[in-house]
Amino acid sequence: MSNSIVYLVGAGPGDPSLITLRGVECLKRAEVVVYDYLANEQLLNHAPDNAERIYAGKIGGRHNQGQDEINSLLVNKAKEGKIVVRLKGGDPFVFGRGGEECEALHDAGIPFEVVPGVTAAVGASAYAGIPLTHRDITASVAFVTGQEGKEKDESNIDWDRLSIGGGTVVFYMGVTTLRRNMLRMIEHGRSPETPVALVRWATNPCQQVLIGTLADIADRAEENGFKPPAVTIVGEVVALREKLQWFDTQPLCGKKIVVTRAAEQAGEFSAKLAVRGATILECPTIRLAEPESWQLLDLAIRDLSGYDWVVLTSGNAVRFFFQRLETLGLDARALGCCKICAVGPKTADEIRSFGIKPDLVPTDYKAEGVVEEFSRLDMHNSRVLFPRADKARDVIPRELKRMGAHVDSPVAYRNVFPDRLPPETLFALEKRSVDCITFTSSSTVQNLAAMLGEELMLDMLRGVTVASIGPITSKSCRELGLKVEVEPKPFTLDALAEALESHFS
Ligand code: SAH
Repeated sequence: MSNSIVYLVGAGPGDPSLITLRGVECLKRAEVVVYDYLANEQLLNHAPDNAERIYAGKIGGRHNQGQDEINSLLVNKAKEGKIVVRLKGGDPFVFGRGGEECEALHDAGIPFEVVPGVTAAVGASAYAGIPLTHRDITASVAFVTGQEGKEKDESNIDWDRLSIGGGTVVFYMGVTTLRRNMLRMIEHGRSPETPVALVRWATNPCQQVLIGTLADIADRAEENGFKPPAVTIVGEVVALREKLQWFDTQPLCGKKIVVTRAAEQAGEFSAKLAVRGATILECPTIRLAEPESWQLLDLAIRDLSGYDWVVLTSGNAVRFFFQRLETLGLDARALGCCKICAVGPKTADEIRSFGIKPDLVPTDYKAEGVVEEFSRLDMHNSRVLFPRADKARDVIPRELKRMGAHVDSPVAYRNVFPDRLPPETLFALEKRSVDCITFTSSSTVQNLAAMLGEELMLDMLRGVTVASIGPITSKSCRELGLKVEVEPKPFTLDALAEALESHFS
């Protein structure tokens, strides 16, 4: 058991970015992870694929019996020589029974390390906008179990001091015992008018906050069917939330949005939604691949000086085209004699990043817009190169030919679909916990239908808001039986993010 060690790691309160760097380091090294109900499962992605994942909630029965079994499990796995991470919600040493686990490890002579985490009270405080202390209001805070004395006649809690002191009190595990504990505080001298906040699933997209007073919070919780897990914050500081709340006021807070994108582009749009508070489930439905043959594109590239126009209608087309140029030993100068048309501002930016200023960007960012711009020019006998995706629409070549142009449209890249959805996204769709799905091209929706099967896709998306980037994509959605509720103008990712914001506000 030379390398074996057990890391007790605090997972934080829910938001998976609230774990510590040290916690992530330990997870990366883990051979076994034993995790809790309250630890966000997404954190398991930090562990190596072949690490054994054991859900502690499934071990043994409840309370002490379960705890003994968890202790033995940790000891035994370490004795097998394994690096074990015990991943616990919040902080391991705040009502986490981390103390008991460390004692068992100590008694068995097994090395251990404890990595702190953001405890629920602290997470709830930050994400509900309720400072636990404040210079003008209170100078102390107590973390108290709501379960104390449930089965005993006498309580170890000094209710007098807790109630009269004026400090903030945070109860853990106190939803089912809420009425009794609030009453006790009143009986021991705290004003019934003291503000109280219940914060459920703090820092998670589904965070819920219920505000009341010592006198009425139990009734309110009952009326609202308020369920655990939650912390109860008691004290004058709760009133600050009115000014300081920030998390639940974000326009897309609490919304789970599936973002279907070409795998290579997933990040940018997701980031636009994440800053508005949404939870993003990535769903790559396209993988970009090289053409089956480069022959036609290579022929065109070697003859670039013979073209009047090069039309590029996506960032992907730009990247594949310029990569090929480079592979053939050429650079932007090869385009010296041609004019360049970009379908929209994004594509234009992409072209600029290769050192070229586009000559034409239509105001209507789609194939029809390109056609309209060209219809104002004399295209007769001009030569146009249109490097395209394998499944691209043929509007541009068809219409330009009608104007008398000679058009070559070699395939510059292919859209192929991955064989499966990320497990997390599939799970959320199956659980019907998704609020919205976004489609940013016809192939994203067509490929999703191909990956899931049309019927299953329709079934999984029942009740889910469908957002599409523009009319062509919307048409593809409708052809597959989906009803499009959000379509922005102009047809850009920025506008789509804004349209979603107003749809959900
Ligand atoms: N070690 C944990 C606490 C475990 S006790 C920590 O430091 O946070 C379990 C109790 O923690 C729950 O009953 C609830 O009161 C509280 N809790 C844990 N996660 C929570 C969350 N995300 N939101 C609100 N309360 C939470």
